[in-house]
Order: sequence, then structure tokens, then C-alpha cells
Amino acid sequence: MLWGEERVELGPALRKRLARAGVPGIDALLGLNERELGALGGIGPTTVREILDRLAGAGLSLAPDPYAAYECARHSEPARDAELRSYFLCGECREAYSSRAFDGRPPAWVSGERVEGYCGHCNALTEVRLTQWFLCGTCDRVMRSVGRSLASARFVAESWAAAFGEEPALTLTETDPVELRPRAKRSDAGRVASADFVASRPTGEPVLGLELKSGRSALPHGGIGAPMGMFQLDTTDCDDIAASAASLDAPVLLVHAQVIGRAHAPTERYEAVGLWFARPWDLAEHLSAIRQRPRETRPAAYFRPLAFRPFREFPEYVRTRLDGDLERMRGTGFPPLYSS
Ligand SMILES: [Zn+2]
Ligand SMILES: [Zn+2]
Repeated sequence: MLWGEERVELGPALRKRLARAGVPGIDALLGLNERELGALGGIGPTTVREILDRLAGAGLSLAPDPYAAYECARHSEPARDAELRSYFLCGECREAYSSRAFDGRPPAWVSGERVEGYCGHCNALTEVRLTQWFLCGTCDRVMRSVGRSLASARFVAESWAAAFGEEPALTLTETDPVELRPRAKRSDAGRVASADFVASRPTGEPVLGLELKSGRSALPHGGIGAPMGMFQLDTTDCDDIAASAASLDAPVLLVHAQVIGRAHAPTERYEAVGLWFARPWDLAEHLSAIRQRPRETRPAAYFRPLAFRPFREFPEYVRTRLDGDLERMRGTGFPPLYSS
């Protein structure tokens, strides 16, 4: 009995379609995996689903697919580009990756070799071990950018302290610390945009927000290497900055940190080597174009680097221009950074 009625009830119509597709009986069907079944002529996704359900009802399943997509540890779903990704991590950050970003998944592999080097997450020089998880390309980029963002946020706090000394006129608070999180929880719904840093007067009044972007390239008058030709910012980021300024009722300035990698084989440390700031009115004045970025789906605004000033001029900005900007913001509102 080709279809073994005692094992699974597929019904005559399904059997006929399977037979037409070259699957004469239950043994031939169970020898296929889901991908092979779906590739047969006349068997669409709905039919595949139905067959899987009926097999499951009889306690049966198709063959495992030797080429199945790996499950991305961060978004907990199979992804075609998920593969083993390797990070040098200290013990604490390895644990934090698992528990805070990967839903408790342990690493796919951890090297037994302990290396003195820089942790790819917290950037500390300590004992690290090469650690692997299966991740898709997007999540891998996100994980790598978190370490860089942490380094640039620390750099802003240090530069602020260095610029204003022991008793700063304005206190800087990080409002939106970079953190590891699973992809599923990064929903934009209900999210309130807030600047990365807020500076307040001793009375507690917030007078300024800083939105921090970091990258490998320099801007004019400082940093390492040739300055970038244009500063790119997703228009959605521009919208977030405008929204955070409105909720803060104070100007939000854009800050760019140049963070480069320095080898400490086999690891790499993030080194912040330059910091710049731009007033929103200067950005609006130096808008050059709005266009789709290569390989991206969202449009970006392109600003001339002239909009930025080196951070060493920031104390003078606070002394001479901040009050005027605050008044302007509260009078006429935040300027549109781009207009499409
Ligand atoms: Zn670490
Ligand atoms: Zn992913």
C-alpha cells in the first residue's frame, strides 16, 4: 500500500497531485525535505502547509533540509544570510550578548584560548575569547556598531568634562544610552524621539540636546585623514531630531564623533579621534541634496561639512550663542533640516 492509510490520511486529491509531481507514495514523500517538496511542479506553499499539517497530525515529518537557513540569534528567525559571526568578547559582554540581545541563546562556539586584547563591545583591554553566534548580516552590523557607539558616547562625556572643567555651567546627561537589545523589541511604534544627551542649567532647566552620530571619517579642522565630502543623515533621523527638539523645547545640535579602529592583534580597539558639532540652522543652510543612498531604501539628506565646527569651539558657543538659539527655538521653532 503506497500511501499506508494506517499512517496518514492525505485524501485522494492531494495524493493525485503528489503522484503527478512524481511522488508515488508515503516513503517517497517522507524522503523529501520541505524545500524539495515546495519545488515540485503543482505544489504551492498552501499545499505544502496542508501536507505538513497532515503529517504532523500522524506524528510524521519531512526529511531535514541539509541546506536549511540558519536561525539568526538576534531576531530568532531563519535568515538566508545568517552565518557564523565572530566577536572577541570579555566574559561579561559575552553573557550580556546572550541574555540581553539573543534571548538567552548561548554562543554557537567559544574559543578555549584566552587572549589579552580589546573587547569588541565594552572596548576594555582585558581577557577576551573569540565567540560565535549565527547572525544575519543586518544584525551583525548592528552588534558591531554598538561597541563603536559606546566608545563615542564615552568620548562625548570626556570631551565635555575637558571643555568645561570641574564646575561646568551646564550638566550633561546621557538620556538614551546605547544598549544591547533583541531586534523584535526595537519597535518604532510608540517610540518617543529623545536626544542622546541633554544639557541642563544648575536649576535643572534643559537648554540643549545633542544627537550623536559616529563614523570612521573626519570633518574639517581636526580628526585623522581627509574630511568627508558630504555629511549624510537619513531623513528619518532628521525627523527624529526635530521631534526631540520639540519635546525638549530646546535646540538639538548634531554631534559627529570620528571613531577609528586600531589593531591590537588579534583584536581591535575603538579610538575616538575627533568631535564636531553643528547647529540646526547651519545644517539647514548647508543642505546640499536629498537622495536615495546607494544600497539603502531610505532617502538621506546630504549636508556640506561647513555646517560643522570642531568641538573645541563648543564652550564659546555656549557662552556667546546658546541663549540666542534658545530664544529663536522657542520663538520660531526648530528649523526644517531638509525639505523634499
Ligand atoms: Zn566587554
Ligand atoms: Zn538578524
